[in-house]
Amino acid sequence: MMKNDRLSSLAGELPLLVCWPELWVKDSLKEAWAKEIIEQALQPTNAEENWVCKNCGEQHSSRFTDCWNCQSIKAF
Ligand SMILES: [Zn+2]
Repeated sequence: MMKNDRLSSLAGELPLLVCWPELWVKDSLKEAWAKEIIEQALQPTNAEENWVCKNCGEQHSSRFTDCWNCQSIKAF
């Protein structure tokens, strides 16, 4: 459940901590998944960022969308 996700447009009008987006996780099993989403959201978008194939562990430049080694599609 996402709370305050649209209030960030009011940042500056309201105190930052009031309108900071909050991610509420009901299922504790999804906590790691939610943390991953938050980490991704906080990472600056870097076009030159390399990625690692989740299937075979091969490293790739951001220009590639498929793994040349095992043909897996890059997981976003
Ligand atoms: Zn691969």
